[in-house]
Amino acid sequence: MTTERTHDVAIIGLGAMGSASAFELSRRGLDVIGFDRYSPPHAFGSSHGDTRIIREAYFEDPVYVPMVQRAFESWRELERLSGTALLEQTGGLMIGVPGSDLVEGARHSAQVHGLQHSMLSAGEIRARFPVLNPEPEMVGVWEPRAGVLSPEACVAAQLEQARRGGAVLRFDEPVSRWEAGDDQVGVYTGLDRYSAKQLVISAGAWVGSLLPGMRLPLRIERQVLHWFEPGSHADSFSPEHCPIHLWQFDRDRFFYGFPDMGAGVKLAFHHGGESTTVDEVRRTVTITEVEEVRAAARRFVPAAEGRVLASVVCLYTNTPDEHFWIDRHPEHSNVVVASPCSGHGFKFAPVVGEIVADLLEGRRAGFDLRPFRWR
Ligand SMILES: Cc1cc2nc3c(=O)[nH]c(=O)nc-3n(C[C@H](O)[C@H](O)[C@H](O)COP(=O)(O)OP(=O)(O)OC[C@H]3O[C@@H](n4cnc5c(N)ncnc54)[C@H](O)[C@@H]3O)c2cc1C
Repeated sequence: MTTERTHDVAIIGLGAMGSASAFELSRRGLDVIGFDRYSPPHAFGSSHGDTRIIREAYFEDPVYVPMVQRAFESWRELERLSGTALLEQTGGLMIGVPGSDLVEGARHSAQVHGLQHSMLSAGEIRARFPVLNPEPEMVGVWEPRAGVLSPEACVAAQLEQARRGGAVLRFDEPVSRWEAGDDQVGVYTGLDRYSAKQLVISAGAWVGSLLPGMRLPLRIERQVLHWFEPGSHADSFSPEHCPIHLWQFDRDRFFYGFPDMGAGVKLAFHHGGESTTVDEVRRTVTITEVEEVRAAARRFVPAAEGRVLASVVCLYTNTPDEHFWIDRHPEHSNVVVASPCSGHGFKFAPVVGEIVADLLEGRRAGFDLRPFRWR
């Protein structure tokens, strides 16, 4: 069966990036149809687990700072439109030894963009945030603007706004393949063939299955999130008293934690997970994995180390240089790929939606997109 109507844009994948794109395109007046293999928000991809960090002194590269500044505005706007609280400002600390990528990168971004920040010694960190326990030689970059996003609520709000803008959203309808002609794309699901003038592929960790002819240098990485019941000082983990905190330790390991947003203190490693695929990923968590994060907690956030309340598996889709990939398909100018966000993309979702819409409308994006080109 073929549905006759030709939409302006079809979107494959309605997680963080796809729901943002659907929202932005529909509010620009385009006729959008979106597909998801599940009913987002769901817990099979990369956008679940209650909380995501948003931070401005971006240690990875100063190029992200204007984008995150725009994202702060966009999340607040979405809160107003949806009447839902999505972002809680807690401040943020990037902690490591002087000279570490995390500390120097955050300081560099803050200096390049004139961001409000301060450098704290280990003693100052301990005095200000008694649940954080840096080693004596460690220092921290404090930035007041950082905070916590609620990813499931963010995705739901973007989808709701897209629907209000007229987007057709088809859940539990996986796309099996697509084809692109010069001025039309066909999208095939088990139920129908749909047509649109342009296509967005925002399928996250599944992106490879939708670009079968391309040798994508992507690595799907299994990550585990853990929630702990604080063993002591429970009040000091409230968002009023505890910032988001990232740690670089033992040279190149990264660990991070959140305040207790109601479900316990969430702690996890950033990277260091096993390579996997969406079909083969181990969804169960071993005692060894819990013990590894417990050991990091004992070292850096000892009061958090109580009972483990939950552990959940999530997926990073990494490019080799860990910059995003947001660009036109190299062979089809009416197809835009926007997904592989290397484990740090959530905070930017509304900006990615804007960039996707600008690419499709042939407008100049307001950001430096060079690091995000197909490479
Ligand atoms: C553990 C963890 C912690 C993270 N922490 C942070 C953080 O603190 N801050 C931050 O900014 N970022 C963070 N990230 C990264 C961020 O969450 C991701 O970059 C972002 O969620 C990716 O969004 P996405 O839209 O690409 O993928 P997803 O949200 O997974 O969406 C992809 C969608 O495509 C759908 N799909 C796939 N194939 C098909 C198909 N064939 N047909 C139809 N639909 C399809 C899927 O069902 C899914 O809904 C973290 C990620 C993880 C895993």
